[in-house]
Amino acid sequence: MSLKRLESVNVDGKTALVRVDFNVPRNEAGDITDMTRVEAALPTLRALREAGATVKLLAHYGRPDGKPDPALSLRFLVPHLQRLLGEPVGFGSDDGAAVVLLENTRFEAGETKGDTALAKSWADMGDVFIADAFSASHRAHASVSGIADYLPAYAGLSMERELDHIGRALDNPKQPVMAIVGGAKVSTKIGVLEHLVTKLDILVIGGGMANTFLLAMGHPVGKSLAEPDFVDTANRIMAAATRAGCELVLPLDVVVAKDFRAHAESRVSDVESVAADEMILDAGPATVDHIMDKMERARTLIWNGPLGAFEMTPFDTSTVEAAKYAAKLTAKGELVSVAGGGDTVAALSLAGVAEDFTFVSTAGGAFLEWMEGKPLPGVEILKT
Ligand code: ADP
Ligand code: MG
Repeated sequence: MSLKRLESVNVDGKTALVRVDFNVPRNEAGDITDMTRVEAALPTLRALREAGATVKLLAHYGRPDGKPDPALSLRFLVPHLQRLLGEPVGFGSDDGAAVVLLENTRFEAGETKGDTALAKSWADMGDVFIADAFSASHRAHASVSGIADYLPAYAGLSMERELDHIGRALDNPKQPVMAIVGGAKVSTKIGVLEHLVTKLDILVIGGGMANTFLLAMGHPVGKSLAEPDFVDTANRIMAAATRAGCELVLPLDVVVAKDFRAHAESRVSDVESVAADEMILDAGPATVDHIMDKMERARTLIWNGPLGAFEMTPFDTSTVEAAKYAAKLTAKGELVSVAGGGDTVAALSLAGVAEDFTFVSTAGGAFLEWMEGKPLPGVEILKT
């Protein structure tokens, strides 16, 4: 892709406004459980500082609904950034430091609306705009694409890396192409599923969203996470897959438990026999074998969304086994494997294979919209 790149701009003595993705996962105690996103921004920040720029960081955190919410302040990141960058980092309106982290962009009502006055007020704080948050680039928000109306925009190193890698693997993918789409809900990924069935050879639907398909096929799902309102959608997607000759792979067996917690007592059930007081928390062993057979046939694998509630042992089993197998085929040179999504990255890390995939994107929604072939507002502004 022909991009305006960081290397092509002289930032010496200038202030760079850098849009990053610092939407890191935290546990109840507030500790960051995965630093991948912060680490991904460091090469750009270091390059800018070495080139003599002052840096102002723009990032969102959670969904504060356009107004300040102390629980969603980005201030918790300041000590981490100071440690990683090895210099003082200012926060919000406290100026003075050569690196300043601005408060959560979504505290501003205009952010998610792409408000031009807000974009201009940010643009007024800098000389160049560096877009380094591929994972936010599917949103036409003020801090993602709006600022580019007022400042010259360039791709940061993380953005560049994501676009270059995804493009190399997927612009002309090796056939057959297989996707695994899992995660919680059909409702958040319908567009992707509808598009993928027309493009792919094999589509595996897993995770909580598979439950809605099981419902559509008339199977009981007990008290599983499922979306009865989307049964028609599931039927439509299955019909579209048949028409398009896309082989749809749904769970053959499932792991069920009565409680939604780690180490809950569980059993393997076939999809016809889930009891009313049970919930489906993972794909079963026969399903995993089936998925691995399909991986052997495929030459390209695109993966978004875990196959089960992988945060709770042992319901990570199918995700971990499938991930390890994909990594093994990749190591043998038999598969090009590309994965994306916040939880997907966490699951691959848990399986110990994040490094063994051809490429792992930190982006979820943007990765999928890119797959759908939709123009991403935060990427369009970087094209030459
Ligand atoms: P990503 O962040 O990679 O795009 P999603 O956010 O769509 O992935 O989905 C991840 C979530 O889906 C995880 O929190 C996981 O626990 C949940 N999940 C997967 N399978 C199930 C299931 N059977 N029941 C409940 N939750 C599930
Ligand atoms: Mg997620």
